Amino acid sequence: MLDVCLLGTAGMMPLPYRWLTSLMLRHNGSSLLIDCGEGTQIAIKEQGLSFKPIDILCITHFHADHISGLPGLLLTMGNADRTEPLTIIGPKGLEKVVGALRVIAPGLPFQVKCIEMTEPDEHFEINGYNIHAFKVKHNVTCYGYSVEIKRAGKFSVEQAKSNDIPLKFWNPLQRGQTVEEDGKIYTPDMVLGPERKGLKVTYCTDSRPTDSIVSAAEKSDLFICEGMYAEKEKIAKAKQYKHMTFYEAAEMAKDAQVEEMWLTHFSPSLVRGEDYLPAVRKIFPNSHLGKEGKSKELVFQEN
Ligand SMILES: [Zn+2]
Ligand SMILES: [Zn+2]
Repeated sequence: MLDVCLLGTAGMMPLPYRWLTSLMLRHNGSSLLIDCGEGTQIAIKEQGLSFKPIDILCITHFHADHISGLPGLLLTMGNADRTEPLTIIGPKGLEKVVGALRVIAPGLPFQVKCIEMTEPDEHFEINGYNIHAFKVKHNVTCYGYSVEIKRAGKFSVEQAKSNDIPLKFWNPLQRGQTVEEDGKIYTPDMVLGPERKGLKVTYCTDSRPTDSIVSAAEKSDLFICEGMYAEKEKIAKAKQYKHMTFYEAAEMAKDAQVEEMWLTHFSPSLVRGEDYLPAVRKIFPNSHLGKEGKSKELVFQEN
């Protein structure tokens, strides 16, 4: 199971009724947060979510609306008695940016580990989250994130028998462990069928449309994408400031064959986003406007 909660939908600045764009994922007792602008900790509190289990923080890029909430969040996590290390993933320069912000959040009761990315595509596996970071196209270095929960194949008694696996190893192998006895190595694939469809969420802001987004988002259960501008005539602005229109996001959702798309990172000038949805849905029918606290529980499909 993967719980998804869009904490906010604002771009550039928080508004009285709109928190800055960030996403909370929860799986198996561990939380993953993507982006942390000003006020994100208030949005977390508003949703009744807990600070203590945040093990991973992914930062898209170093613009204030995506990272300036970090010192406050770290202090609040410290106040929640966290002692386990926190992993922060972000573009090159992360260590320096986090170091500067931590001048006002010193003496935390937990360690902060920074992972700086330099390649266009990077992969991490932490606490059951399979994270794919992919470079996008903004006016500073920026990454999108695909997060997958993989699902192993079904246990097959016939396969275990035909591979002569001792009965005592069936259980550990089914749980994904590799075991060794008398120089023989037994691996999970000897008792498991083909990998089953897992759960996949892709988050992308801020960027122009790119092939990297389409390929990373391929067949996602949920694609959360920036839609800075709703008005078609603002395409020139979108190109100038390296953002997207609703329609460009919908084109990518269609090309990536995702199940569902939520738009987010709205311009402060956007008031009635829903007025533009019919035109967006002509391109990709299962398009929705993100809103503060919009949530979804993704569960494995039977077979
Ligand atoms: Zn932004
Ligand atoms: Zn930006």
